Amino acid sequence: MRIALVVSSLMVFGCAGTAPSEQSPAAPPVDLGQQWVKHAAEYRAITRQVYGRATAALPAFIEDPNWSALPQQEDAGDLPPAVILDVDETVVSNVDFQLSFEPPFANWKLEAWTSSTVATPIEGVREFVETARNLGVTVFFVTNRPCELKEGNPDPCPQRQTTIDDIAEVGIETDADHVFLSEERGWTREKVTRRLFVAERYRVLMLVGDDYGDFIPCMRSSPRAPCTEAATAEDRLAALDEYADYWGNGWYILPNPMHGSWTSFD
Ligand SMILES: [Mg+2]
Repeated sequence: MRIALVVSSLMVFGCAGTAPSEQSPAAPPVDLGQQWVKHAAEYRAITRQVYGRATAALPAFIEDPNWSALPQQEDAGDLPPAVILDVDETVVSNVDFQLSFEPPFANWKLEAWTSSTVATPIEGVREFVETARNLGVTVFFVTNRPCELKEGNPDPCPQRQTTIDDIAEVGIETDADHVFLSEERGWTREKVTRRLFVAERYRVLMLVGDDYGDFIPCMRSSPRAPCTEAATAEDRLAALDEYADYWGNGWYILPNPMHGSWTSFD
């Protein structure tokens, strides 16, 4: 019955249609990931859920001197507490950039867009940071926005101030001592080096991000120093079990179906 109905409706519309040469160009395919982040209440519910759970867990992690969210960190009980957040799709939403930029992606395009627009917060982040700071926790931001020289600008990393401004635009004040980009101080896009830099002076209570790289070292298809080997899709799945104790317990991952290191794995 259903097939018959479809056929008859095709016949009706077929008679009234225009010749292929007169049809308007096909609409570009809709990116469901972008549409979901932009429009779905479910997406916002998840980010609120993630930050809500992280906020609720802060006191217990502060109280436990043996706790660190970094598997590599030991004997940090005497250090002051800190949390490390990624920036894009963790603190600020770039969905409107994703919906509007002319491919291919380039860092300068994102930088130009973030410089000329007011940043949109990921829901829940402002309350989380406010609570953390009220509890005496220092907040660091580790982003893979890169430092790139700009013509006529003597600043070796003008993108740092852009990033600080974006974070301020969502209601979180910070400064250059707490925002670490890639390609500065010899750092690469591999974030583990920057996490360990924080861990020299702080006990890291939590990691918050939207990409495996915000939590686990050497999970990229194209390794960056200090990693030497490319990860495989199997490695990434194995890490789910390897770090099972951390997900939702010191590690708080937000959804990002639009971009990320996952896109280079089949
Ligand atoms: Mg991110």
